[in-house]
Amino acid sequence: MEPVLPRQLINQPTLVRLMMGIALIILPAVAWIDFRQGYYFSAAVELTAAGVLLAMVFLIRSLGVHRSIQVTLVLMCILAVLGSVEKLDSTPNFAWFSVMPFLYISVGGIRLGSILTAAHFSAIAVFYLSFARSVVDSLAVGTWIQVGLAYLTATGIAISYERVQRQLRKRLHALADHDPLTGLLNRRGMEKRLTELESFLRRHEVPVTLALLDIDHFKSVNDEHGHDVGDRVLKELAREMRSVFRESDYIARWGGEEFLVALTSTNIAAATKVLERLRAQIAESSEFSIPSLTLSMGAAEWSAGVDLASALKQADVALYGAKGKGRNALVQAIEADGNHPESQLPARHDALLDQAS
Ligand code: GH3
Ligand code: MG
Ligand code: MG
Repeated sequence: MEPVLPRQLINQPTLVRLMMGIALIILPAVAWIDFRQGYYFSAAVELTAAGVLLAMVFLIRSLGVHRSIQVTLVLMCILAVLGSVEKLDSTPNFAWFSVMPFLYISVGGIRLGSILTAAHFSAIAVFYLSFARSVVDSLAVGTWIQVGLAYLTATGIAISYERVQRQLRKRLHALADHDPLTGLLNRRGMEKRLTELESFLRRHEVPVTLALLDIDHFKSVNDEHGHDVGDRVLKELAREMRSVFRESDYIARWGGEEFLVALTSTNIAAATKVLERLRAQIAESSEFSIPSLTLSMGAAEWSAGVDLASALKQADVALYGAKGKGRNALVQAIEADGNHPESQLPARHDALLDQAS
């Protein structure tokens, strides 16, 4: 399924600013110092690295954030090695430290990224201990501690950045999947979960019941009491539904005043008991903003072998049956079997399926 929000939408601004900063300030500064010290090759490599980071910023648009970071990571690894060769008589190049943990963690996530970051640091240590022993011996322990701390700091910043991004993505996904008025799943959120459930049902024999619940004569609630009261009733009803159904059930505002509930691990017989309790509870309750609130409900079992569209169609036909029975009623799809309602009521369920697809 298409992601709710493309990765680049969330990552791009901070990422771009960070890469621009390193490309335009840190790497050129280091290249200048190296140039002054006579490390011409290293200076050229560092300027190339700056160019790679700048190119990445522009490649994001065509390749996407993830792919362009991957490409940059590979190029930067190669450049990091090339840039070190000439400088084996000196300390490791700090400039890479500011960017490599960030690239590793952005590409690999926190765990793999941290492992790669640690591996990079270990590789540098082994490299220096094997090929530049004299540098290691000539530098004070404090210098190596400083190098380690610089690397740890960069890693820490990269991890916390990734954490914030992850939370932000989660929050945005949740917002995109929920109805702001009732806090229930919205249609798109429910469709996503039903699609997941559908593939689960293909592999497991677990009964699920789909129930469509529609407020009776809601138009007249708005007409008589005003839209604000109508909204309040929707919220109150959502709260009531949350208290009746289980945490593991999915409750969605499927349309204006129509709700779809997927009761998981629940066959139609068990679901009927719960739904009937909710129906009676609402019809008898005096706690709603309007006195005579009632619901019509249609329920259908969605078992293995039945596709989602047919199960939804059955629930919708059953709901139509409940309206036909005079409202404030629950109808099971099986009940309608003897007198197959599909042939009688094609218009309404077709309309619903069109919306659902
Ligand atoms: P029925 O018993 O046949 O379902 O009649 P009904 O009046 O409930 O059905 P209908 O579909 O004709 O009307 C639905 C009404 O729900 C129309 C619309 O004004 C109202 N509605 C839909 N969304 C909202 C909403 O977000 N807030 C409020 N206050 N009303 C809404
Ligand atoms: Mg209605
Ligand atoms: Mg309706």
